[in-house]
Amino acid sequence: MRILKMGQVGGGIGAFIGEIHRKAARMDGTIEVVAGAFDIVPARSLEMGKILGLNPKRVYTTYEEMIKGELALPKDERIDFVSVCTPNHTHYPIAKACMEAGFHVMCEKPMTLTLEEAIDLQQTVKKTKKVFGLMHGYTAFPMVKLARDMVWQGDLGKIRKVVVQYPQGWLFEKTKRENMQASWRVDPKTSGIAGCMGDIGTHAANIAEYVSGLKITEVLADLTKFVPGRLLDDDGNVLLHFEKGAKGVLHASQISPGEENNIAFWIYGEKRGLEWHEENPNYLHVYSQTAPEEVWKRGNAYVAAKSAAAGRATRTPGGHPEAFIEAFANNYMNFGDTIRAKLERRKPTELELDFPGIEAGVRGMKFIQAVVSSSAEGNVWKKI
Ligand code: NAD
Repeated sequence: MRILKMGQVGGGIGAFIGEIHRKAARMDGTIEVVAGAFDIVPARSLEMGKILGLNPKRVYTTYEEMIKGELALPKDERIDFVSVCTPNHTHYPIAKACMEAGFHVMCEKPMTLTLEEAIDLQQTVKKTKKVFGLMHGYTAFPMVKLARDMVWQGDLGKIRKVVVQYPQGWLFEKTKRENMQASWRVDPKTSGIAGCMGDIGTHAANIAEYVSGLKITEVLADLTKFVPGRLLDDDGNVLLHFEKGAKGVLHASQISPGEENNIAFWIYGEKRGLEWHEENPNYLHVYSQTAPEEVWKRGNAYVAAKSAAAGRATRTPGGHPEAFIEAFANNYMNFGDTIRAKLERRKPTELELDFPGIEAGVRGMKFIQAVVSSSAEGNVWKKI
């Protein structure tokens, strides 16, 4: 097994998601972090490199320098891919430059600042033929993969209704000086045209489409800026129309006091229903009108027998909880195996290709555009 070399942009001292990416990428010992431009402040990038024990020659102060420095190395020493863990407005230039320089990319969501950038990035992926992953981690939980496979296998019957929620409370008030994570999220220049809907609404839309296997075709949204002075939505309620006549509701909020990261879905077909919560992610509830509730538990052989994807995404036996970092690791596992397939000149398997990519990124940006214009134009239906 070829160990892939990762370079990271973002994930400096005090940053949130970059550290999760590093832990997840290294979890299976098949990816090593060898380079990075970790921080917008050059000295802090160098400091992070020291903390990680990296070769100082491969700790850079900008992503442009990292590209240059890595291209100057012999081919077999260079990074294979770049993990982009910076605020939203920087994803597009970094991801584009990295792919054009010949590196594969794992990028954070929302994929870009604007829909136009997303469409252009899709062209870059096509042109460069690089592997592109987008870190929607929630669809990489084993029990979410199991739910998707139950729907695929017809256990629920025709899907009628999808309910998805993502409430948080951490932005319920404006603090004197917003913290590192909040400051760029509430600013349209760095966050994009949506606040809450871009930051977490896109996760909810992504999981709804992944599990149901149906695309959202239309939305009717009511977005609100509850906190005085806020420039972007901090709460939103959205009605959804899916393909094949299914309907749904999505709500996302960052001003719901006491809520931590309560992403959850309920999906109902003609025969059965399913319920899953990220805050208790090792269990999938299966409902029927004519039989008692079933609780499927991660790590049991019956899960892997039902869903090869859920089995592949499981590292520890049942009862020993797996959660957020393992889910990220599952996306890195499939992304990495797809890169290896390319290196070995073979077609990646369906299981290896089970990670969100450029199409999910474009759909996320279309979702943002549609909910923002639906709300701004007086809560009207908007096509995606
Ligand atoms: P953060 O503010 O905690 O960290 C951002 C880091 O990027 C900082 O270290 C900063 O110095 C660095 N940075 C900024 N510009 C840079 C540049 N040009 N070059 C190098 N480094 C640069 O932000 P965060 O909460 O970690 O979010 C980062 C991204 O991850 C965002 O796009 C966010 O939406 C996404 N995110 C995704 C998930 C998920 O579940 N997939 C969760 C949290 C955040």
